[in-house]
Amino acid sequence: MASVTEILLDLIGIPSVSSASNQGVMEYARRRLQPSQWDVRIFPYADPNGIGKANLIALPKKGSNPEVVELALVCHTDTVPYPDDWSEAVHPKVIDERVYGRGACDVKGFLACILAAVADLDVAERSVAVVLTADEEIGCIGAKRLLSEKQLRARYAVVGEPTQLHPVVAGKGYALGEVLVRGKAAHSAFPEAGRSAILDAATLIGSIRKIGLRAAMERHERFEPPFTTVNIGTISGGTAKNIVPAECRFLVEWRPVPGQNERWIADLISEELARAQKDDPGLQATFEPIRIDPGFETDLQSKLVEELKRLSGNAAVAVAFGTEAPYVKKLGAETVVFGPGDMKTAHSVEENVPIEELERCVQVLRRLAYSLAK
Ligand SMILES: [Zn+2]
Repeated sequence: MASVTEILLDLIGIPSVSSASNQGVMEYARRRLQPSQWDVRIFPYADPNGIGKANLIALPKKGSNPEVVELALVCHTDTVPYPDDWSEAVHPKVIDERVYGRGACDVKGFLACILAAVADLDVAERSVAVVLTADEEIGCIGAKRLLSEKQLRARYAVVGEPTQLHPVVAGKGYALGEVLVRGKAAHSAFPEAGRSAILDAATLIGSIRKIGLRAAMERHERFEPPFTTVNIGTISGGTAKNIVPAECRFLVEWRPVPGQNERWIADLISEELARAQKDDPGLQATFEPIRIDPGFETDLQSKLVEELKRLSGNAAVAVAFGTEAPYVKKLGAETVVFGPGDMKTAHSVEENVPIEELERCVQVLRRLAYSLAK
């Protein structure tokens, strides 16, 4: 039987950057799931660029109630891109008992753990599902599709992400919107003939800064920092130093804490724009939300949390990065994010995973299947 490290080396060797197809990884997973034991369903779709993508759900062939499983093991199959000159990206290397390559920890490491853990499980006895998704890195698109298609319900779910084998029981959401300010171009020697979109944007940015300060008052002590953060990450506007700028746009990003309406900041920004336009009818600005993903939170008393704490020997924590957990939670499952490796190395050319954590993760998943997936 292949070791978890061998499986991971295979998986890293099958590139699956979100801009390309993930079907190679799905085919590999299908081959690893014994056809005598597993009923593997692949759900193909074409992304907006016409690229073939797929989700996958594998259920035990002789499972009792395939529509509601006790334990779902969930993992995305896409990765972020990598620079051309990083030779290990898809030709992984083992250095000092760590596997280096794109996806090593985010999140082919966990996928390898799933495939290794279920390989010698008597699945006919276990109410367990393997759920693999596409396009997580570009907005959890695969998970959202699975949710809308209602293909599965689960009581407990483990969503793979690098957490150094800490059970993650809460995560902030992720939201993004664009403010577009329109002014009127004029020669800068005669500014009164125009209206500066950049100066209007500056006024609005001052107000959004205050919204950020207000958000910081609503504390959620599980997180560090313990509140919804607001960031204006990019701004562009103007065409020349001597022209009054006719247009300015900027991106506002916020990471909502769970329990708070994830649209709250969007509502505050829209209200602020309306107020500013009422005070100054010449001001023209619109706000367009681009993406609003909620956070998630799981009860510390959940049996899944208790089991993962016991089996990993690690405390439950909260994280600030976004995951598929909020969507998986909507499948009805008590959800924990868990996996080998450290997110601090993910998305970089240092991405790696310690082999010792891979092996421990396989043991944890196996024991979890025995204790929860009855
Ligand atoms: Zn990930």
